[in-house]
Amino acid sequence: MKRKTKLIHGGIPGDQTTGAVSFPIYQVSTYKQQDVGVHKGYEYSRTGNPTRFALEELIKDLEEGKRGFAFGSGMAAITAVMMLFSSGDHIILTDDVYGGTYRVMNKVLNRIGIESTFVDTTDLDVIKAAIQPNTKALYIETPTNPLLKVTDIKASAQLAKEHDLLTIVDNTFSTPYWQTPLALGADIVLHSATKYLGGHSDVVAGLVVVNDDQLADDLHFVQNSTGGILGPQDSWLLIRGIKTLGLRMEAHEANTKKIVEFLSENESVKKIYYPGLETHPQHAIAKQQAEGFGGMVSFDVGSAEKAAEVLGRVKYFTLAESLGAVESLISVPAKMTHASIPAERRAELGITDGLIRISVGIEDVEDLIEDLKQALE
Ligand SMILES: *Cc1c(COP(=O)(O)O)cnc(C)c1O
Repeated sequence: MKRKTKLIHGGIPGDQTTGAVSFPIYQVSTYKQQDVGVHKGYEYSRTGNPTRFALEELIKDLEEGKRGFAFGSGMAAITAVMMLFSSGDHIILTDDVYGGTYRVMNKVLNRIGIESTFVDTTDLDVIKAAIQPNTKALYIETPTNPLLKVTDIKASAQLAKEHDLLTIVDNTFSTPYWQTPLALGADIVLHSATKYLGGHSDVVAGLVVVNDDQLADDLHFVQNSTGGILGPQDSWLLIRGIKTLGLRMEAHEANTKKIVEFLSENESVKKIYYPGLETHPQHAIAKQQAEGFGGMVSFDVGSAEKAAEVLGRVKYFTLAESLGAVESLISVPAKMTHASIPAERRAELGITDGLIRISVGIEDVEDLIEDLKQALE
């Protein structure tokens, strides 16, 4: 099955019992047992729910893995994956990971003894140097947020394997439509499905896919034990959103390309971060491991004042956190999504006060360019 077909026919398409073309929402907590322990595969909806399972099967197919899992948010998904580890274990992570990932590692999981080091994973030697005797996993986010840095998934997963580390990839920005990390050697792929997979700014969810039966059993044990599951209504919304993922990703990509061209010629723009640019330091790797460069662009307008001015003047770019939806969004990472990262750390990473991040929507690109033009003037 090719990608666009899989979005529609992957997972469990429709309802076997009634022929309903849309998968039903099983709004239920418990299931009748024929005899003690004799049932039709479902006992209690924390453990398993048919609508959630249909979504989990779909993301499993899209990511080409062994088993999928749906959680109540991206952070719940990330936390569940981290619960595969124990006190005293050490994880190496990409340095400019999502702010919430940085926060959960440094303010929550550290308290129960899960240690972490944040390094520039675009450099294999830097990853290698960070490996300790107790290191258990390499966690990469690629492309990153908001600087769109790209890590070579295949090479870093191979390095991880040589040292007996699991490779975990946050694939939120690319989605399985453009990039399938398990096929490149990763062990676990995860998403904030709140973003492109949902695509319509109407659901908060997280998804995980693993490539191994033991990992699948272990993660299901964590999911059932800690309970951060996604409900049936939201599972259904995600199944519906994913059907148009291909159309949306193509539209995001086409619009973004034109906006990047426009930004490149605008004199108020000091620097642009986009993996599709030939001048992007990891452009070649991005091109090799993903089929598209995505709809996220960051650009520096030089100062907090100028950034505030731009934000105040845009009409079609909604000032909001989040990304990956049909509507274009704009934000200043230093003050919003990355505010939980200490100022000095932000400066180290290059997340300046004049850095603007846009999530390009699927509106008419001429309107979007016109809007940015008047805002930057
Ligand atoms: C939003 C986001 C998360 C967290 O997901 P939530 O659904 O907001 O909990 C994790 N990783 C990336 C890359 C994100 O953009």
